[in-house]
Amino acid sequence: MSKVLIIGAGGVGRVVTSKCAQHPSIFSEIMLASRTKSKCEEIIADVTRSTGHSHLRAAQVDAENVPQLVALIRSFNPKLVIHVALPYQDLTIMDACLETGVHYLDTANYEPKEEAKFEYSWQWAYQDRFKEKGIMALLGCGFDPGVTGIFTAHAAKHHFDEIHYLDIVDCNAGDHGKAFATNFNPEINIREITQKGKYFQDGQWIETEPHAISRMVNYPGIGPKNSYLIYHEELESLTKNFPTIKRARFWMTFSEEYLTHLRVIQNIGMASIDPVSFKGQQIIPLEFLKAVLPDPGELGENYVGETSIGCRIRGIKDGEEKTYYIWNNCSHEKAFTETRAQGVSYTTGVPATLGAMLMLNGQWSGSGVFNVEELNPDPFLEKLGTMGLEWHEETNVDIEFEV
Ligand code: NDP
Repeated sequence: MSKVLIIGAGGVGRVVTSKCAQHPSIFSEIMLASRTKSKCEEIIADVTRSTGHSHLRAAQVDAENVPQLVALIRSFNPKLVIHVALPYQDLTIMDACLETGVHYLDTANYEPKEEAKFEYSWQWAYQDRFKEKGIMALLGCGFDPGVTGIFTAHAAKHHFDEIHYLDIVDCNAGDHGKAFATNFNPEINIREITQKGKYFQDGQWIETEPHAISRMVNYPGIGPKNSYLIYHEELESLTKNFPTIKRARFWMTFSEEYLTHLRVIQNIGMASIDPVSFKGQQIIPLEFLKAVLPDPGELGENYVGETSIGCRIRGIKDGEEKTYYIWNNCSHEKAFTETRAQGVSYTTGVPATLGAMLMLNGQWSGSGVFNVEELNPDPFLEKLGTMGLEWHEETNVDIEFEV
């Protein structure tokens, strides 16, 4: 029986609130706090109706303001903060957790607003302070990062003596019926996918022009889809935590239509994060673009099709070369029926809730800052299916696609 504070009332916040409320014996009291309190109230009304959990509360907070966060945490006194607002707020929320002695969990690594750059260095720098305080920070417990790291840890523990090649493959074969929309926060999403590509090979990072490398990847239950090599944050922690890895890459599907929209957005300057003066005001084009694009949290209703995300691994077991594929497919419609959120929010919110459960029941514990792959994957994967994300594995499959 624990109190939990969820910060961020977007698509992912909706799923986390809903999933926590389905487990009242663990999450006995839930507070959902965000910049706009009415969004928390709306989610809470839906979740109370669908789950019957009667101890849900809404609050307003600016998660970039440490004193406000500290005051909120002290007034509610949770055991854990689940941060599913934006990556810009990782450090302020970690600061507030340190000040109040409360555990922390997030789904995306810190990104400074003024520079589209995401890496773990800022959050790993909290290691000693979290250790000294005797509290735990769990970083990147969504799907990717998150389940992809746990899949890799499971492969390392149960299937390989050494992992040599890791390809994370991420397909969204869903259709939301809009000409252009992003599946999570548009500002964060566009910053991520317009960056240069980057992958790890033989101890070095190799940079490519954005979307310069693509391959057809065959996704289970979906079929072949053009997949583009992009940089993704879990590559940084996985290559550090599994030093036998010789090459690690991340692939994501984009349709031609999507890439054309993205090119136009970039060419006309709307993806820029440099402020421009407009009618006497300083505005950031990408922030303005977010305001006119569909809200990812509203995409669920007409979303059809599935996501498929997994890890394709090659390495050595008992002196023999072995290939292995582990994945989950998630239906947008099923996710919406259960939580009124689309599949991308669902695949992020379910692992965050499950990670929180394991932290609260003590199956995942420790003092300091952890990436998910550093923890025991077994209790997580035992429950992931019953929490709504069934997973599958296959050995000795044809998984090779060379750069
Ligand atoms: P949304 O944009 O839908 O929601 C973000 C929420 O955070 C909004 O409710 C917003 O408030 C709130 N917020 C923003 N700034 C502040 C602030 N300063 N103080 C308080 N609240 C604030 O995003 P998503 O739900 O789609 O994504 C949430 C997180 O999940 C992101 O960090 C994203 O990167 C991560 N993610 C991780 C994935 C994974 O697999 N690991 C996949 C997808 C997403 P308001 O409503 O007022 O704007």
